[in-house]
Amino acid sequence: MAKEFEVTPSKLRTHVYCPRLTVLGDLVAPSLRQRLRMLLGRLYHLVYELIWLRGFRREELLEARLGGGIVLRGRPDAYLERDDSVVVVEVKSCKGPPSGGVWMSDRVQVLAYGLLLKLAKGKDVRLLIAYRDRVERVPMTSEALTWLFKVIEDYKRTVESSWIKDVGRGAKCDRCGLKWLCDLIDVLPRGAGET
Ligand code: SF4
Repeated sequence: MAKEFEVTPSKLRTHVYCPRLTVLGDLVAPSLRQRLRMLLGRLYHLVYELIWLRGFRREELLEARLGGGIVLRGRPDAYLERDDSVVVVEVKSCKGPPSGGVWMSDRVQVLAYGLLLKLAKGKDVRLLIAYRDRVERVPMTSEALTWLFKVIEDYKRTVESSWIKDVGRGAKCDRCGLKWLCDLIDVLPRGAGET
């Protein structure tokens, strides 16, 4: 029997945000500022869910075996089951992208919750991301699911090989506690396997 490999929607979100965090993220404890931000985010979730998501099931643990030993496991913020469909809401305390749509990292996370609910309930799934400034719909198309599975495969390969990828560095790095480490990695000569 294949060894179980756990994937969570929140880890996929981090992986799409920056795949280096998949490998390096556990090396540095969150700063006081990050912990405070997480606490405020948690409070925002609670208040939003209490006010806007009454009647929804909240934070229920779901899991699905995807083959190849991969187990997808996670707790959607909230979902509402109807006769023929399920509405999934992912609450975000940040604003959505200024240009519209959703952040790709949030997209992969809500698609993973959608897949969990699709497999659990066998019904049509409607995905919503509730940003601080608006609510966006994420279509659960076959293309979207193909992308989700590609991300899962890439996440698995990255974890299993501790692969520190070449990534585009940008503004997000200025807010990251690992900037000093990535600055160092990026000036090191590449190994033979990476040329
Ligand atoms: S500094 Fe930038 S590249 Fe490095 S882990 Fe953080 S976000 Fe990723």
